[in-house]
Amino acid sequence: MKITKIELSHISIPFAKPYKLSRTYGTLHEAHAVIFKVHTDEGIVGLGEADPMSPFTAETPASVMTVTRDIIAPHLMGQDPRRIAMVESTLDEIIDGNLTASGAVNMALYDIIGKTNNIPVHNLLGGMRHDKLPLLFGVGSGTPEETIAVIAAQIETGCRCFMIKMGALPIADEIKRLVAVKEQFGDRVSIIIDANQGWEVTEAIEFIDGIHAHRPDLIEQPIKRWDIDGLKRIRDRCSYPLSADESVTAVSDAATLIREKAVDVFSIKISKNGGLDKSRQIAQMADGFGLKCLMNSMLEFGITQAASLQLGCTLSNLIDLGHAYGSVLRMSDDITDFGQNISEAVVTVPPASGLGITLDEKKLKKYTTDYLNLK
Ligand SMILES: [Mg+2]
Repeated sequence: MKITKIELSHISIPFAKPYKLSRTYGTLHEAHAVIFKVHTDEGIVGLGEADPMSPFTAETPASVMTVTRDIIAPHLMGQDPRRIAMVESTLDEIIDGNLTASGAVNMALYDIIGKTNNIPVHNLLGGMRHDKLPLLFGVGSGTPEETIAVIAAQIETGCRCFMIKMGALPIADEIKRLVAVKEQFGDRVSIIIDANQGWEVTEAIEFIDGIHAHRPDLIEQPIKRWDIDGLKRIRDRCSYPLSADESVTAVSDAATLIREKAVDVFSIKISKNGGLDKSRQIAQMADGFGLKCLMNSMLEFGITQAASLQLGCTLSNLIDLGHAYGSVLRMSDDITDFGQNISEAVVTVPPASGLGITLDEKKLKKYTTDYLNLK
């Protein structure tokens, strides 16, 4: 089997409602991705998705398309897609970083092997441990009343785990939000606080000291990605787990965070981390050192979400909270049928082969703003 062609489509789909994140990321109105269709001489087409989001990632949709056209695709043409490890090694040699681009290729190759052998991708990753996972719902920035209203509406759907986005408001206001949520819902809900790098170390400590008994279940990436020493200071102050998201991108980042004992949990995102193999490697390193994993997501569509579910369902060290498989519910539309796996705030692993999803070609065309056909 040989790779014969790669199609790239930059898509843009509006959110159902604008999503207000930390002051680092602002308020978002639409999500962008680059969809990869990797063709083979046997007619099997593998699907991949790159989810760059500046400044979360150094990449942009345009850079994903350029690096794929100029460097990745010329090395992939004629290669056997079943030799994933060799392709990974080659890509690691010819490009630095660009993990969402190489990650999309990695997803597509797994999709090809799964479809060729008529098995789901999780069978290639050690097999399924969890046939279902509870959903985590991301709550954007807002007043205490708005935050409570969003959570109350999601509780009606069955959701019990929420990631409250912070980092856009003064610390005193963020403390009021968490206290209001805890007083309203108590132990009926699990709460993750994610400041998306929006705080200084002193602000994070002010928050931790200020919430007293209203402790969340997890606090994620309060400060800048590079501030490992700051993460250690915050972890020392916390009586609950601290998670790295932006800080754990490359496999080498995971090694550094483990060595420095900087965090308790890794937020795994298949696109951010460079595909299924690198994400799995990070998750297994975490397991070896007693860290847990949160299956998290970029603002992504059904292909990356499906890849994430194929890996997440195999892991032995998932944290006992919800996981981010509701990204497509935040969008006004998706280019796949991944959403059909979600019911009552639970995602079920689909039985279909490959990544387990179907691409809607009409929708792909409708939302495409830029296209490359690489042969
Ligand atoms: Mg995060």
